[in-house]
Amino acid sequence: MTSLQPKSIGVLTSGGDAQGMNAAVRAVARAALHRGAAVHAIYEGYQGMVDGGDRIRPLSWDDVGSILHRGGTVIGTARCPAFRERDGRRRAARNLLRHGIDRLVVIGGDGSLTGADTFRREWPELLAELVQRNEIDESTARRHPALMIAGLVGSIDNDMVGTDMTIGADSALHRIVEAIDAITSTAASHQRSFVVEVMGRHCGYLALMSAIAGGTDYVLIPENPPSDGWEERMCELLRNGRAAGRRDSIVVVAEGAQDRAGNPIGCDYVRQVLEERLGEDTRVTILGHVQRGGTPSVFDRWMSTLLGYAAVEEVLAATPDSEPQLIGIRYNRIQQVPLMQCVEQTHTVARMIAERDYAGAMALRGGSFTEMFQVFNRMAEALPSVTPPVRPRRLAIIHAGGLAPGMNTAARAAVRLGLDRGHTLLGVRGSFQGLIDGRIEELGWGDVEGWTGLGGAELGTSRQIPTVEQLYAVGRALENHRIDGLLIIGGWMAYRAAHYLLSERDRYPAFKIPMICLPATIDNNVPGSELSVGADTALNVIVEGLDRIKQSAMAARRCFVVETMGRYCGYLALMSGLAGGAERVYLHEEGVTLKDLQADVERMVESFRGGRRLYLTIRGEYANPRYTTDFLCRLFEEEGHELFDVRQAVLGHTQQGGNPSPYDRILATRLAARSIDFLTQQLERGSAESVFIGLVEGKVTLVPLKQMPDMVDWAFRRPKEQWWLALRPVVQTMARQPPPADIGGSI
Ligand code: ADP
Repeated sequence: MTSLQPKSIGVLTSGGDAQGMNAAVRAVARAALHRGAAVHAIYEGYQGMVDGGDRIRPLSWDDVGSILHRGGTVIGTARCPAFRERDGRRRAARNLLRHGIDRLVVIGGDGSLTGADTFRREWPELLAELVQRNEIDESTARRHPALMIAGLVGSIDNDMVGTDMTIGADSALHRIVEAIDAITSTAASHQRSFVVEVMGRHCGYLALMSAIAGGTDYVLIPENPPSDGWEERMCELLRNGRAAGRRDSIVVVAEGAQDRAGNPIGCDYVRQVLEERLGEDTRVTILGHVQRGGTPSVFDRWMSTLLGYAAVEEVLAATPDSEPQLIGIRYNRIQQVPLMQCVEQTHTVARMIAERDYAGAMALRGGSFTEMFQVFNRMAEALPSVTPPVRPRRLAIIHAGGLAPGMNTAARAAVRLGLDRGHTLLGVRGSFQGLIDGRIEELGWGDVEGWTGLGGAELGTSRQIPTVEQLYAVGRALENHRIDGLLIIGGWMAYRAAHYLLSERDRYPAFKIPMICLPATIDNNVPGSELSVGADTALNVIVEGLDRIKQSAMAARRCFVVETMGRYCGYLALMSGLAGGAERVYLHEEGVTLKDLQADVERMVESFRGGRRLYLTIRGEYANPRYTTDFLCRLFEEEGHELFDVRQAVLGHTQQGGNPSPYDRILATRLAARSIDFLTQQLERGSAESVFIGLVEGKVTLVPLKQMPDMVDWAFRRPKEQWWLALRPVVQTMARQPPPADIGGSI
C-alpha cells in the first residue's frame, strides 16, 4: 500500500434490525464514493468482521441501488458472541486491515456501539499483537494507528439518549398505529376491550406515542409507572369513556411496563383486571416482530440518509485523536454527540428504572416526552379534570385552506383538552362561510370520538377567506355565538384570514379576541413552523406512489417525471426525492433553466447508455410555468430516442387523502394542546393576542401574527427561510454517480 491509498470505510449493521438501516447503508456508500473514499460492507454485523473473507466486500454505486424501500438490512445483522472476546476482536482487526479499513460506520443499538468503542480503544494493542504474531507487518500497523468510528443508532425502540429519533422508530410506530387502527374498528363493532403490547423494554416511546396517535384510553410505560391503585383508576377512565360514547377501549402496554414497586405489569394481568372489574370481553394482542417489519417510513428514509451522509463526513474528517461520535438527529438537524456519553446516559435511564428512580428516568427522556405523557393523560379524561372557571369560556375551532390529513386529530385534541380545562368547545362547519352562516355547534367529548386517525376534515375546510364585504358578518357571528377565542387550523389561507381579521381589529371590535393559527397543510409552506400537520402523511403517500412507479418500470428502460403538489413550495418535491431516491428534483426555489435541462438530458442519456433502467425525476407543480411536466416529458422523449421511454405521473389529490401518519397525529396533538393552553392563558389575563404556533428547531414556538408579513414571500406563498433547502446537496450526492476516475482518487 502507498500513502496515496484512498481512505477506506467499513459499514455494518449490528444487533436488532430496523427499518431505515438500508437507507443509511446506501447513504454511507454513496457519500463515501463521492468523496473518493473506498467503502466496504461488512456482512452479518460483527460476525462478518470476525469471519472476514467474502463477508467484507467493496460496495459499488449500484450495489446500493433499489434498497431504500426495503425493510430490514440487506447487509445482514447478527449477534456475535465472539466479538465480545478479545480474540474475536483481534481477528476482526486483522480482517479489516486486509482491506485497509480503519474507519467504521456502525449502525446498531447501544450494545453494538459499546462494542465498537471497546474495539477502538483496544485497536493499537490489537495491532501490536497482530504484528507480534506475524499476522500483519509493522508498516501496516503504522499506517493505521487508530480506528475512527461514527455510530448511528438503529433501534426501533427509540431508546438512545443523544438523538431524538433512532433509525426504525418511526416505521415501527407506523406498524403499531396501523394495528391499533385495525383493532379499533373491530373493537368498536363488538364494544370490546383490547390490551395491546408493544416493544420497549426500557423505553416507553413506542407505547406512549402509539397511544396518542391511536387515540387509546390508557398507557403503561416503564419510565412512569402508575401510582398504587392504578387498576381502579384505569377502570374508571374506561367507564367514563364508555359513558361518554366510546365503543371500544384500548390499553397500550410497553413490554417493560412495571408498577411503582418494580413488579412487571403484563398484558394478561391488565386483561384480567378489565374482565373482572368492568365485566368486559377483553382480548390481548401482542404485536411482536410485526413492529420491525415492512417498508421504512418516509421519515426513516430521509433521516437515515442524512445520518449516513453525515457519518461519512465525520469519519473522513476524523483524526486518530478524535473522540468517536454518535450521529443523531436533534430538532430535525443532524447533531454529533460523543458516542460513549450517549451510551452511558442510556444505561443510566435503564438503571434508574430498575432502581425505581422514575423522576430521574423521565427527566433524562426529555421535556417533550414528559409533556406528551401529560397531554395523553389529560385527553384520556372524559370528565373535566380542572374545575370550570367562574365565567365559562367559549372557544371555537375552524378550518381554513386546503385539506390536510391531521386536521381532525388537531380538532379532537383541542376539543378534549379544552373540555378538560372547563371550556365550552364550538365547531364551525364549513370554514369562514360556515361561520357567517352560523353553522356552529357545541362539541362534546364523545362527538370527536374516532377522529384521531381519520383523514379529511369532519368540520369541512375551504380556501375561501372572508372578503371585505363579509367582515361585518364575521364579526356578528363571533358576537352572536359569544366566541371568546378562536383556533384556526389550516394552511396559507387560514393564516391569511387570521392576519386579515387582526389587521381589521380597529374597525371591527368583535375581532379583538385571542386567535391562534395551527399549521395544517401538506404544502408545508406556512411561517413559524418547520413542519406542518399533514406534510408527513402526504410524503408517505407520494413515496408509496414512487415505490410503485419504480416497480412498474423494472421491465423497461424508462424515465419518469412525477409531479408533486406544493405550489411554489418545493418541500414535498425535495423530501420525496430524498426519500424516494430520485435522480433529479425540480424546485421553484431553485428555478429551472434551459442550461440545467440540457445538462440533465446529457446526464440522463449517458446513464441509460451505462446500463441504467430507471431515471426518476420529480417536479414540484409550480417549479416553472413554462417548463411544465408535459414539456419535460416531451423534451426527454425527444432526446432519449430509442434509448429509453418517458412517462409522467401526476399524483394529484391522492396527496391530500389518506389517514394521518403517526407523526402528523402526534404533531397535531402537541400543537393543539399548546394552542388550548395559549387561549386559556389569554382569556385568564384578559388579553387578546393573536399568534401562530409551530415547531422551530423542534420546540413549540408562538410567533405574533402581526409578524407574518416580514416572514413570508407573499408572491410565492412561502416562508422566506426554509430549513430544508439546505438538504439539496444530499439529494445530489445520492443521485449523481461520480465518474469512475474519481473513486479512490482524491483522498
Ligand atoms: P444492540 O446493538 O441492538 O444493542 P446487542 O446488545 O445484542 O444489540 O449487540 C449486538 C452485538 O454487538 C453483540 O452480539 C456483540 O457482537 C456486540 N457487542 C455488544 N456489546 C458488546 C460489548 N460490550 N463488547 C463487545 N461487543 C459487544
